[in-house]
Amino acid sequence: MTTRRKQPKVAERLKVWVRSGGHCNIRHRYLLESDINFEFVRLGELAHIVAQADSENAPRGLSELPPEERDLAENLMLTCAHCHSDIDKESQAQQLDADLLRKLKERHETRIRRVAELAAREKTVVLRVVGRIRGASTEISALEAANAVNALLDRRPDMTLDPNRQGPEIDLRSLPGESEPIGSGYYDTACARIDEILTERLVPAVERGQVPHLSVFGLARLPLLVYFGSRLDDAISTEIFQRHRSTESWEWTADGADVRFGYRLRAAPSKDGLTEAVLIVNASGTVNPHQVPTELSGLAAFVIEPKDGEPNRDVIRTQRSRNSFHNTLSDLLGHIEANHKSITKLHLFAAAPVSAAIILGRSVGWGFHPELLVYDAVPDGYSLALEVQAP
Ligand SMILES: [Zn+2]
Repeated sequence: MTTRRKQPKVAERLKVWVRSGGHCNIRHRYLLESDINFEFVRLGELAHIVAQADSENAPRGLSELPPEERDLAENLMLTCAHCHSDIDKESQAQQLDADLLRKLKERHETRIRRVAELAAREKTVVLRVVGRIRGASTEISALEAANAVNALLDRRPDMTLDPNRQGPEIDLRSLPGESEPIGSGYYDTACARIDEILTERLVPAVERGQVPHLSVFGLARLPLLVYFGSRLDDAISTEIFQRHRSTESWEWTADGADVRFGYRLRAAPSKDGLTEAVLIVNASGTVNPHQVPTELSGLAAFVIEPKDGEPNRDVIRTQRSRNSFHNTLSDLLGHIEANHKSITKLHLFAAAPVSAAIILGRSVGWGFHPELLVYDAVPDGYSLALEVQAP
């Protein structure tokens, strides 16, 4: 007569499943999903390290472990059926002793715990750059930035790199000369301030391993955002935020319409071998081609713009739209590198939202290194504001 073996108590079974994170302790297979159709299916089994029965015929049954402790979580390991039958085969049970299995169990459970703790600690360093736009002072509060990061749910905002625990923040608002004509030195001063804060605050923290990820917020004139983007360390994965015009919010929306960007060659170069070209970005608005300085008219001109629909101030509402801009720019630079090798300078005329401006700056570090000459919109056209080279 066979008696049905009693199962370990629910509380003990739960402990084993939770401590194992739902994975086989031996081959680490996930135990709640089919490998075939990915449906929910319970594949885990509770294997006794020391057999339930105090018998030499049961796997690892001869042990000093008292019978009442054999159904406790400490004596059970979560495995798949394959591993369970492996360790319980008679020949195997003689070789794989209880000590070894206990070590495998402990190593797996410790690893699961550590991985979960790592995820909980994952943070993003919030970096804000605020300037003046057409004379008006702007502001991004630490709370607004934190809320936008929290809305994405995957990282915890960290602002502790700054003594006042608000940053780092690059504040360009108090710099003199913003309203002066270009050439007055405003851009030089502002770029020097950007370098200063990044060097003092961010770089040492990166070296100490305190910046696993960056969340970047910007409100400033476009050439400064491009410059700022070019100074960000390429090796740190970075989320770029911007204030959306329609909602006044910094949060990326999931339900906004995605915009796809594309590029085209608008004007072929007047002769081969030119080392400069024009890059026009029609995103938040449209650059009037007649306002591009006439001395650049013989150069090749590339245009990045939405593939369908018109440029508008809210053209980048979603992360996917922003990523499409990033990918399009990357494709265009790849195209230039492959087909127009001689080009080393791009004259940039951009009607672009904040995130696109920062991405344009970051591109200066991507493998191919065209120098960017960034123009600023002035009342009667465009004027060269600054030059951005790979750091
Ligand atoms: Zn297994």
